[in-house]
Amino acid sequence: MRRFCRPRLGRALCLLALAFPVLAVALPKAASVPGGVALIPLGAMSSTGRAPRAWLGEQPVLVAAERGQWIAVVGLALDLPPGRHELRVGEGGEQKMLNFEVVSKYYPEQRITLKDSSKVTLSAADEARAVAEIATIRKLKQHWREADNTDSDFLLPATGRLASRFGLRRVFNGEPRAPHAGLDVAVPRGTAIKAGAHGVVLATDDYFFNGKTVFVDHGNGLISMYCHLDRIDVRTGDTVGQGQRIGLSGMTGRASGPHLHWSVILNGAMVDPELFVKAMPGHR
Ligand SMILES: [Zn+2]
Repeated sequence: MRRFCRPRLGRALCLLALAFPVLAVALPKAASVPGGVALIPLGAMSSTGRAPRAWLGEQPVLVAAERGQWIAVVGLALDLPPGRHELRVGEGGEQKMLNFEVVSKYYPEQRITLKDSSKVTLSAADEARAVAEIATIRKLKQHWREADNTDSDFLLPATGRLASRFGLRRVFNGEPRAPHAGLDVAVPRGTAIKAGAHGVVLATDDYFFNGKTVFVDHGNGLISMYCHLDRIDVRTGDTVGQGQRIGLSGMTGRASGPHLHWSVILNGAMVDPELFVKAMPGHR
């Protein structure tokens, strides 16, 4: 059910659709693992149609409607320990805690050799720059924009070989580094990179590790990030449609070849982008 009315819909159905705040048109695949998405039922939609609120820690969580039920769509960070976790739910001035389980997932190791070792063992100046940028990026990831509708049904932003999957435990030039919190699509330099879904450009910048980067805010804590671009074609505040070109691929930042690094962020957590793409091309 989308929050718009087609002429062929009856007036009553149309009014019904408008009366309910429908916050997602397609839910991601559920995977209650570190780096995955938990779908937690919050009960039937009441006659008021008001969505309950939910938080993981202090971070607000997307609440979506599906078949008359409210569902919390919870992003689970890669470093979230497996085991029991609590979702805080608020409805009508009351709050309750809901338990849910996160099970462990094995992510393979990936060893990468970079000729430019200055992007692995950083100079003091580069270290200071990278640390400052990581703080900026953390704030962007936690951004929350209330929206009537969140489009969580993504297109793959570029067509190409899926070079590195989400979650790989990475070792650069023999040194362990942060896990791979996105999906790499190998594409030649200059390939059009498309917005995965409708949204608003939250930020653009040129970072030490991520290179030229675009963040698209899809509302209610769902954000996508496109890195290593050769050229950025949008500005902060621009509205972008699904499939709209936002830039051209490249290998700016820390990259061993031209590719798109694509991340999906949900309630501040980097989660597996493949959970959001219905039609992933055949591979593996
Ligand atoms: Zn990557």
